[in-house]
Formats: sequence, structure tokens, C-alpha cells
Amino acid sequence: MRVRFAPSPTGPLHPGGVRTALFNYLLVRKMGGQMVLRIEDTDQTRFVPGAEEFIIESLSWCGIEFDEGVHKGGPYGPYRQSERKAMYRQYAMQLVESGHAYYAFDTEEELETMREQFKASGVASPQYNAISRVRMKNSLSLPSDEVARRLEAGESYVIRFKMPRGREVRVRDRIRGLVVVQTAQLDDKVLFKSDGMPTYHLANVVDDYLMKITHVIRGEEWLPSTPLHVLLYEAFDWLDTMPEFAHLPLLLKPDGDGKLSKRDGDRLGLPFYATEWTNPESGEKTPGYREAGYFPEAYVNFLALLGWNPGDNREIFEMDELIQSFGLDRVNKHGARYDFTKLQWFNQQYLRSRSVDSLMDPCRNLLVQQGWNLEDSTLQALIPLVMERMVLVSDFIHEVRPFFVDPESYDEGVAAKKWGGAFPAVLGDLIDCYEALHDEWNATIVETKFKEAAAKHGVTPGSLLQGLRLAVTGQASGPALFEWMGLRGRLACVARLRQAAATLPTS
Ligand code: GLU
Repeated sequence: MRVRFAPSPTGPLHPGGVRTALFNYLLVRKMGGQMVLRIEDTDQTRFVPGAEEFIIESLSWCGIEFDEGVHKGGPYGPYRQSERKAMYRQYAMQLVESGHAYYAFDTEEELETMREQFKASGVASPQYNAISRVRMKNSLSLPSDEVARRLEAGESYVIRFKMPRGREVRVRDRIRGLVVVQTAQLDDKVLFKSDGMPTYHLANVVDDYLMKITHVIRGEEWLPSTPLHVLLYEAFDWLDTMPEFAHLPLLLKPDGDGKLSKRDGDRLGLPFYATEWTNPESGEKTPGYREAGYFPEAYVNFLALLGWNPGDNREIFEMDELIQSFGLDRVNKHGARYDFTKLQWFNQQYLRSRSVDSLMDPCRNLLVQQGWNLEDSTLQALIPLVMERMVLVSDFIHEVRPFFVDPESYDEGVAAKKWGGAFPAVLGDLIDCYEALHDEWNATIVETKFKEAAAKHGVTPGSLLQGLRLAVTGQASGPALFEWMGLRGRLACVARLRQAAATLPTS
């Protein structure tokens, strides 16, 4: 098996592109074979500097590794189409000679006139095809001496595919099944441009052939081009090595209809690209999932389940398990919604499965950035307390803020509900009691004394707990409170209880 990922370097790689690369990777690693990274840069007007590097970096962050490609070399290189330029002309010429393609000399104005005339006679979308080509200036309609003269004079031309008439093209797609298209629906696509570059169609087919690609797995937007590709394989007499095709379903907006776009991420204030993209013109940087603190494993797991299912309700798959389980037979036909909250859920699952030790360094780095410091033993105990509440490692700072910063205010609604009744009296007792404890301070003592104080005033500890949390942390919810207070230390807790007591409504 040989597969390829063949992006055009026209900008930052869209999640749909990452998913296409991933599905190629999973399949080729499962079956054993090679994966090629080919850069399709024949459209020089759409070339964006930095896009190629971005693609390589994003996929590498995801753990998608290639065997051959622009950055790896390999026996079928070069892997950048602009560097293969010289070779395509001979293939275009081969088709001209065998009668499958022809020279067309029409100017932009002549093409426009043709379209207008057809429109005027009621053809909604006029095409350069078997019907219109006879009226145009090409090597099928012009006398051969005129064609020779024009070529000799160096007139500008393109080479078009001569779409056969009245044929039915049958495309076998591994996901869509049999797709049948009538050639009457297809036009005489340009294969070779006047600038000496091949178009996508010619270069893509020639390179898949020369690079011995066995499986073309790509986005659904390329399905309409596939009948032409099949006809090209036929015209070159390469049908016996034609790759198998699999067209992957579209990625859809998280809500509503239509294709996923970067604006969907912007709307939610969430990243869209795998890694940071730097706009080559403005220099503006757009952080990706990597910069936002997502785990690549979580992102890959999330993407894998967009359009593929394992056949049961398992959801957590690391790369190795994906490789084991993946197959094109379970790729869906219909589009897959890109649910950003689901990605967060995945990240949370991966975070929870991390060992505390593996989080020590990243959490310490976050603390250092804030100018905060903790003993190793305290950090080690604090991480498991707050971990359950985090989606990203970077949430650590938000979660530990109350540990370092005294409450600046208290939620009035919660205070009104929870700081009445026996609370002030219990709080007073607790301050005295905690103050008297001296060196013995840990979660168990904190809790025991709290329960004793509640019992003394005839109330359940549960009814006082949120009030206590508000007093100590300034927040209405948070991690296990007694453990937290145990770690925070006696003097700091007493000081905060005093501060809360001073704020209590006197009435
Ligand atoms: N260059 C095309 C793209 O940008 C490749 C399509 C294909 O895989 O054939 O997606």
C-alpha cells in the first residue's frame, strides 16, 4: 500500500486536511506501506509562503509521520510539483498525440463571448465541451497548417482534455460505492496551462501514477473530479495500476448546516488550527490547539471519530489503538459535525488519565510565569485536587488562583443564602478553634473541628459547607475543601476566615 497526502500550500491547513492526512496514516500503518507528502503547488497565484512548513509542523505535532516527501526525500522525488514542472509537458503531449487532448488558442475574451452566446440561447452554465469546442479556436476545429503556424509563432495556448461523447464513467469509491457519471456532464478541462504548468488534474494523476500510489484517500470535494481522473488513467493506458479511491465526508459546522470554517472557531473564541499560524503578510499570529494547551493525542482522537466509528461505543483511542481499529469500511458517507465542546471533553479525559508526576513540570512552569511558588510536596498534593476541574493544563492557573490570592469579594447571592442562621456563630468558633491548633493542621483535623462546631450549634455540616468555602476561597465551588485548607495552611485559613467574618452582614 502506498498513500499520499497532497495538499496545496494555499494557507494554514484546515482541520479537514489534518483529518484526511490522519485517515491515510491510520490505514497505511495498519496495512503496512508507505505514506508520501506531496506538495501540489502548480497554481502559483495561490501560493502562500510558510504554508508548506506549517503543514509539516502541524502534522508532526499530531504524530502523523511520513515515509517520503518534501521534507524526507525518497525514491520518487522530487515531491514538490513545481520542481517536477519539466516532466508534465511530455505527458500532456502524449495525450495530444494519442488524440485524447488538444491545443486551444482561445483568448479570455473569446471564451467570454462563447459563454455569453450560449447563455443568450438559454444554456445556464455553458462549458467548453463537445458541443462548443467546434466553434472555438483549437487544434480540433482549425486546419492543421494553421495550428502548426500558431504553434511555430509561439502563440499562447492551453492543452485541454477531449472529453469523449456519450460515455458513462464508473467510479468505484470505497466509501460511496459505485458512482456513475455521464460524460455529457463533464467539460474539456484544461490539463496544461499557458504558463507552462500542469493543472491539478494532470499533475495529480501523473504523480499518483509515477509515485505508485495504490489508494487515493481525500476529501469529498474531489469526488466530482474523479471521473476525469479515471478517464485520464484510461487515456494514458494506466488503468491496470489505477489507485483505489476513497472520498471522506465533509466536516460540518458545530451547529446548523454547511461546511466548517475558521469563523466557527472564532465565534466560540476557540482555536481552529493544529499549531500556530503566522500570516505572512501581516505577521499576525493565530494560536493553534498546541499553543492553547491541548494534547495532540486528544486532538487526534477527536478527529478520528469525525466520519469514522469503531463499530461500538468506545471513544478513547490512542494512536496505536486507532491504527489497530481503523478501516475504510467504517467511514461514514454523511458529513461529520465539528463539535468543539467534544474536543474539550477529549482533552479533559486525556488530562485525567495523566499521572500527577507528568503534570508537575508544566504546572510548575505555569506558576513561575505568574511569579508564584510552591514546595514540591504541596504542588504534588494540589494537582490531584484541581485536576478533575481542568480541561487544559493551562486551566491550572485559574484553578489555583484562590490558593494564592485572598478573596477580593464574595458572591452576594451565595453569601445571602449561606452566611445567615448559625453560620456567623460557627465561623466565630472555628476561628478560635483553628487558631488554637498550632502545629497540628491537616484535612482530617480541619474537617473534624468543623463538624464539631456545626454539631455544637445544632446544624448539619452540609448546610454550612458552601458558606465555609466562600469564606476561605471566595468561590462558590471548587476542589475538595478540607484537603485544600489542609494544604493552604492554618495561618492563611484563619486570616481568611477573619476577613470573611469582618464582611458578614451585621444584622
Ligand atoms: N492538492 C489537492 C488539495 O489541495 C489534492 C487533492 C487530492 O488529494 O487529490 O487538496
